[in-house]
Amino acid sequence: AAKAHGKNCYQVFETRMHEQLLDRLDQESRLREAVHRGELRLHLQPVVDVTTRELRGVEALVRWEDPERGLQPPGAFIPLAEETGLITEIDRWMMIEACRTVREWQESSPETAPHWVSVNLSAANLEVPDLTDRVAYALAGTGLAPECLVLELTETVLMRDIAVTAGRLEEMRELGVRIAIDDFGTGYSSLGYLRDIPVDVLKVDRSFITGLVGHQRQQELVRAILQLGHTLGLKVVVEGIETEDQLDLLITLGCRFAQGYFLGRPEPVASLRSRLATVPAP
Ligand code: C2E
Ligand code: MG
Ligand code: MG
Ligand code: MG
Repeated sequence: AAKAHGKNCYQVFETRMHEQLLDRLDQESRLREAVHRGELRLHLQPVVDVTTRELRGVEALVRWEDPERGLQPPGAFIPLAEETGLITEIDRWMMIEACRTVREWQESSPETAPHWVSVNLSAANLEVPDLTDRVAYALAGTGLAPECLVLELTETVLMRDIAVTAGRLEEMRELGVRIAIDDFGTGYSSLGYLRDIPVDVLKVDRSFITGLVGHQRQQELVRAILQLGHTLGLKVVVEGIETEDQLDLLITLGCRFAQGYFLGRPEPVASLRSRLATVPAP
């Protein structure tokens, strides 16, 4: 009986593994199709100048409008896209869509349009031989000025092979685009790479903001990061501001640019633009 039981368990296990595998393959081919079927959506989150509360930049964040499961956040499909290599197609689509959208906005309402748009690039992009051409193509095809495009890479990506990475980034910077370090402060980073890698923007990770209010040590840490960035001549954007208290405190710590639910959630360009048109800056 024990043996039969064991065998049953094994069969159940095997069937489940099989189902999971099929599910994954199905998910993968549907994700592959999503890019071509036009199911990806560009959402934009405001980056605000905290001294004036005016919109200065936007971050492009991908969504998948899955006909079966509804609107999917990046966490639901980016890991699979990264494992399968589809991510470079997604990032390419997002870069063009982001450049086009912001260029149109700047043309039609130069007064309210963001000065820059940042797009996220996963690690695999640095292995795409024609990455610089892709960036150049997105700019040329849409007419967006190069200085309006920011490419966000995470610390861990930047540190993989500093010499190679620095070369690739320098190539792209020669086009006139800017480079941001995303989730700054979360990697196992020595600060040494700030010396070797050409960077223009630091994006301070949201984890530094959670628990900021009432915690002196955290505040000093954020103040130091802001000072470091500013001393190096970089723009520093603090991520994840969810409350007015956090914002007020950040201003006293020397913060100039911030992003977070309190200042605006990611949303499609049309709703962002209509909200900006009707609601005056607080
Ligand atoms: P990220 O680049 O660090 O983007 C910021 C994430 O924090 C976004 O999540 C945003 O919605 C969220 N966020 C912003 N403000 C707040 C806040 O005040 N509180 C909280 N709790 N969250 C906030 P989202 O859109 O789910 O994106 C998650 C991550 O997925 C991004 O982190 C980025 O690493 C990745 N991602 C998004 N779009 C793309 C893309 O087009 N390409 C690639 N390669 N990765 C992307
Ligand atoms: Mg980002
Ligand atoms: Mg970030
Ligand atoms: Mg982050």
